[in-house]
Amino acid sequence: MITDVFCKILNKELPADIVAEDDNWLAINDINPQAPVHVLIMPKKHLTDVCAATQDDAKLLGELLMAANKIAKKLGLEEKGFRLIINHGEHGGQLVPHLHIHLLGGKRLGPKIIAESK
Ligand code: AMP
Repeated sequence: MITDVFCKILNKELPADIVAEDDNWLAINDINPQAPVHVLIMPKKHLTDVCAATQDDAKLLGELLMAANKIAKKLGLEEKGFRLIINHGEHGGQLVPHLHIHLLGGKRLGPKIIAESK
């Protein structure tokens, strides 16, 4: 049985601040936001990470990016800009083993996309 926190949110076992939803994905506000806008976009299908996806998931992966496109526009981020991040595994700093895209914006983000961990 898959019991990651995002599956629990998708199964309505845990509450979440839902931003948008479609047949195949859910977007929620991050519980610990790193920017004024910090949305997490996740597939409803359980994929542990981006490497768990197969060619059969290509359409779904495209839908996740289109979700980011639509949400960024809806939140007025297109003009000033935003950042999309997918963490993978230990070195990538992935904490939740359920594929998700971070959509960050609402302020000028740091010039570096990586911060070294001690
Ligand atoms: P990652 O390090 O890429 O796996 O990111 C996981 C993200 O999920 C972090 O930014 C957490 O703050 C966020 N997070 C963890 N639990 C929850 C939750 N219950 N609701 C919303 N966001 C969460």
